[in-house]
Amino acid sequence: MSAFDYDLFVIGGGSGGVRAARMAAAEGASVGLAEESRMGGTCVIRGCVPKKLMVFASSYRETFDDARAYGWDLTDGPIYWPGFRGKLEAELDRLEGVYQRLLSGSGVDWVGQRATLRDPHEVELADGSVKSAKHILIATGGRPFVPDLPGSEHVITSDDIFHLPDLPKSMLIVGGGYIACEFACILHGLGVEVTQFYRGAQILRGFDDEARGLVAEKMIERGIHLRTGTNVLELQDRGADGTWVKATDGSHGIYDRVMYATGRDPNSRGLGLEDLGVEIGRRGQIVVDAYSQTAVPSIYAIGDVTDRVALTPVAIREGMAFTETVFKGNPTPVDHELIPSAIFTQPELGTVGLTEEAARDREPIDVYCSSFRPMQQSFAGREDRVLMKLIVSKATRKVLGCHIVAPQAGEMIQLVGIAVKMGATKEDFDRVMAVHPTMAEELVTMRAPVRSA
Ligand code: NDP
Repeated sequence: MSAFDYDLFVIGGGSGGVRAARMAAAEGASVGLAEESRMGGTCVIRGCVPKKLMVFASSYRETFDDARAYGWDLTDGPIYWPGFRGKLEAELDRLEGVYQRLLSGSGVDWVGQRATLRDPHEVELADGSVKSAKHILIATGGRPFVPDLPGSEHVITSDDIFHLPDLPKSMLIVGGGYIACEFACILHGLGVEVTQFYRGAQILRGFDDEARGLVAEKMIERGIHLRTGTNVLELQDRGADGTWVKATDGSHGIYDRVMYATGRDPNSRGLGLEDLGVEIGRRGQIVVDAYSQTAVPSIYAIGDVTDRVALTPVAIREGMAFTETVFKGNPTPVDHELIPSAIFTQPELGTVGLTEEAARDREPIDVYCSSFRPMQQSFAGREDRVLMKLIVSKATRKVLGCHIVAPQAGEMIQLVGIAVKMGATKEDFDRVMAVHPTMAEELVTMRAPVRSA
């Protein structure tokens, strides 16, 4: 008979927390879980899932245009936002229910309440009850960060975008990362006049220069008013007219809505962690070792709250590695190397491994690159261009990085990721027969490097 109420108590019902709870329960552990908001967390409720459905919704405008170019007799019209939003909300309700049933079906004892820590083995729930557990897992995710500036209380974030009663006519998006760029494309596709401010010289800092340059070029070409080297100085609420914005370049303008996508902060505050000796980093992240263990041996943390790699599949893997380590007696460090990811801009950017800039700082490389007009869009008269790029080590011939800008680049990079993770060389790529006619066949048909560095 255990001295604790549970073997494991998980705080946070997002992708990572739910996976860890279910896997631990499958190993015979008694598991409790507390979630203060909706079950499913950022990814399911206010992130990846509703975002991707909005990407689909917004992409039909171009599909209709292209279909007409292919000879279809279609009439144009705006999206009926309340119709889409209602369906989206129903889908999120459905998914929340799926998550709740998955937990209950696995025997996890879950509650819809906030939990805080009282000691290394005890959590206190919002209703005042206290639960003890041998191990506690913090999987509380993150939340949007909005810088403090005059009028910043008038802005919205990606959390609010899915619930807008009406689609605004105009919108200013501030930021140049994943969320800002994805929503600039989504809202533009839905018919909103989009302006995007980014404080640096080029959006998507940290991604391959050539790839992010092409994404920026295509966003501008589609009609997004992208203004780099520009930030907000001040905002004022102008009632029904919208929000007045003064920019660092001296200009000002009025937008129906202003959305900030300037990064996310780990949700570590107010949990009682510091008092227990859990180390909190400068950005508010819970500091953990390779096994997701904090400085307090019974307390572990996974996912965005640890600010390692803020991606859903990474949080899930961290949850699985935690269960493997703690409940299967098989210490498993999390492998954060060569993570493929995609930015669902229009066109998409898929990436795995090193950028050209990072790779050439490390070792001599060959760069293989092909940029061309894709058949489907070219036939429709669109000026779109696709980029397929491989970064190859001169010494080992290993593919160190792959960057794709193309429709469905997210789907492609998932598969390329397998080969790159396996350590495939350029010659391994070349031995594979092309699938013709596709865009991705360029990945196995690029003969000579375009440059070496
Ligand atoms: P990012 O860190 O990607 O981007 C933040 C952006 O905001 C940067 O362009 C940054 O500029 C800018 N910024 C930061 N502070 C300020 C400021 N004070 N004033 C003006 N601009 C500022 O964060 P996101 O919010 O876009 O996304 C958070 C995380 O969520 C991502 O890192 C990613 O891990 C994850 N995500 C993944 C997605 C996917 O896989 N498709 C989709 C959405 C999110 P600078 O570059 O100069 O620092």
